[in-house]
Amino acid sequence: MKEPTIRFPEPTIRFPEPTIRFPVTCPKCGNDALTVFPVAVIATALIEVANIRLYASCHNQWWDASKVELEQIREYLGAPWIDAQRPA
Ligand SMILES: [Zn+2]
Repeated sequence: MKEPTIRFPEPTIRFPEPTIRFPVTCPKCGNDALTVFPVAVIATALIEVANIRLYASCHNQWWDASKVELEQIREYLGAPWIDAQRPA
């Protein structure tokens, strides 16, 4: 059986996407900066163990989330939900 193709993002339908905010620490100055991501992006990245790019607005700085930062993001999002999505 073939899985149906899911197109995302759907270009014709617009709906407010749930987002998650969490504090990240700027690698340049150590300030806590709030980062906002769509929940779907974070969940996909955590399930597939992909990299997440974090951003600190104070220094316009992008960097890849470390393992520790990924763990913190998991806790913000709710790890049980993510584990439930993970293939056995
Ligand atoms: Zn900074």
